[in-house]
Amino acid sequence: MALPFPLDPHCLSQKTVVNMDQEVIIIGGGVAGLSAALEFLRLGKVPTLLEAGSYPTQKVCGEFISPESLPFLKQWDINPHPILKSRFQSGKKEFSLTFPTPAGSLSHLILDPSLVQHSLSLGADIRTQVKVEAIYPKQQQGHKHLIKLSTGEMLSTSTLVIAIGRLPGFLAPLIEPQFLGIKAHFKGIELANTLEMFGFQGAYLGLSPIEEGKSNLACLASIEKVKSAGSVDQFMEKIIQENPHLNELLASGERLFDNWMTASVPYFGFKNTPDWQDSYFIGDAALAIPPACGDGLSLGITSGIMAARYASNQDFVGFKRDYKAQSSSILRAAKGLHTLLMNPKLCRMAIQGCTLSPSIGKLLFRMTRS
Ligand SMILES: Cc1cc2nc3c(=O)[nH]c(=O)nc-3n(C[C@H](O)[C@H](O)[C@H](O)COP(=O)(O)OP(=O)(O)OC[C@H]3O[C@@H](n4cnc5c(N)ncnc54)[C@H](O)[C@@H]3O)c2cc1C
Repeated sequence: MALPFPLDPHCLSQKTVVNMDQEVIIIGGGVAGLSAALEFLRLGKVPTLLEAGSYPTQKVCGEFISPESLPFLKQWDINPHPILKSRFQSGKKEFSLTFPTPAGSLSHLILDPSLVQHSLSLGADIRTQVKVEAIYPKQQQGHKHLIKLSTGEMLSTSTLVIAIGRLPGFLAPLIEPQFLGIKAHFKGIELANTLEMFGFQGAYLGLSPIEEGKSNLACLASIEKVKSAGSVDQFMEKIIQENPHLNELLASGERLFDNWMTASVPYFGFKNTPDWQDSYFIGDAALAIPPACGDGLSLGITSGIMAARYASNQDFVGFKRDYKAQSSSILRAAKGLHTLLMNPKLCRMAIQGCTLSPSIGKLLFRMTRS
């Protein structure tokens, strides 16, 4: 597969016409790009956001929002369904953890368009169905980044934010994906304010209430396990049958998707992003975190806000350094919980430990939020 962003400036023809100079360009309109747009607007800059898709759209995601980004969402008039506790289950063992601070849950169908509406009302320039095909990064201060669009247009900017998500190929090694994300929405399942988490051999699954009485089921599974079951349908059938409580919950509701929605997940960890001048990589484009702790959306939101603030001081070096320092402990905790949930034996031992001493569970929760 060709890299979506050829970086060779010689690709530019002599006749290239740069149509417009933008104050800030944000590539990618997921939660990370949109949160950056809102913070730039608050700081008095008008961003141009380029999104390859359109709104509203489904994304493979558990749609659980960890507590730290809820105050920002509230500020933008977005109020997710409150999630007060989580119940971890592996086999017959279970452990419940009440969150010290409530978390939330809201589908991308509502969250992303709400962020778009808020950004538009404050004057952002948001263009959908426009794919960035190439970036020619600026080589020195005073120069501009050049951005080539699928429309044939060429834009220039002095500040560039890259929020393109966890796409394979760009700036990440072209490795075979190890995991598959699987999602569906349900109606009619009574979950109140609880996130139900289930661990299996080589997979874990979350079930949480979202808006309008609907629920989100999202699963991360090793591709090997899915392949050995024969198909995604057979794999899901198998793990659902394995846990009677999960089976009962799902049987009480109705699946709203004809088919399971899937997306391969190529990479967990920090991306090896280039050190282009005045460029800020945010969200999954900077760091793809295992979904075990449900922190990807909050990291998208907080990295977007942080990038806009650092960009005010043209401090792209400080942003990269400080973002990495701040998110390393979250990545470590998410990797730890990911490993536990994928290994039933370890998971049951951890659940037993947390049951005997609930402070262990609380400590793990705090570690992900430090
Ligand atoms: C199975 C699974 C479950 C998860 N569950 C949770 C959860 O419960 N809670 C949580 O917090 N996180 C969860 N996550 C992680 C979370 O979904 C991501 O961290 C988050 O969506 C990242 O947001 P983003 O804005 O960085 O990227 P994205 O949401 O992927 O947005 C990137 C955008 O960039 C656009 N784009 C890409 N390339 C271009 C281009 N060339 N030109 C223009 N636009 C472009 C795309 O169309 C896309 O809209 C989960 C992930 C998986 C895989």
